[in-house]
Amino acid sequence: MRLLIMGPQGVGKGTQAKLLSEHYNIPTISTGDIFRANIKNQTELGKKVLEYTSKGFLVPDELTNEIVKDRLAQDDVKNGWILDGYPRNAAQVTALDEICAEMNTPLDAVVALTAPTNVLLERMAKRAKEEGRADDTPEAIKNRLNTYEKETAPVLDIYGERGKLVSVDGVGDIDEISKQIISSLDAKLA
Ligand code: AMP
Repeated sequence: MRLLIMGPQGVGKGTQAKLLSEHYNIPTISTGDIFRANIKNQTELGKKVLEYTSKGFLVPDELTNEIVKDRLAQDDVKNGWILDGYPRNAAQVTALDEICAEMNTPLDAVVALTAPTNVLLERMAKRAKEEGRADDTPEAIKNRLNTYEKETAPVLDIYGERGKLVSVDGVGDIDEISKQIISSLDAKLA
């Protein structure tokens, strides 16, 4: 099973990706987590991306695509993967198409989680307090929402046109949402 999980910040992508990972027994690859780990360890990559992540802007495609390509070539993703936070614009969709074609590993489905903006903003404010993520400043949150609207929402249209999209309401009980995603996916891919 090869999946994308998509949706705006605060919609619960990370939480649902973890549950899907456990259910299908495949790893989740989060570009955001990879960047955060590199920033924390002060690697060359971390130094390069900090100026973008801290402001809520997208990291340049060349860097991001390369990271995903390397990660998808590793052994532990041979039986499948869930990508969380990638692709985030049309150029990254093309890059992922190329990676999947080269590896002969086509994408099965794209899970889109949805929630109204006021719910997202409330969740982001709560997360900022609880986790203290460096990019959860009001300015960065606003930039990320704008970037999502402008660059990432059109990605959903691309996968919708390809018939890959499974949309699920991201508001409600975490386990219920997970069940809903899994039953929608199983029905779609049966
Ligand atoms: P996330 O945890 O997915 O919200 O990612 C945190 C930050 O990492 C984002 O605000 C971006 O700055 C950067 N990032 C993560 N994934 C991507 C991507 N696919 N393309 C560009 N930048 C990304």
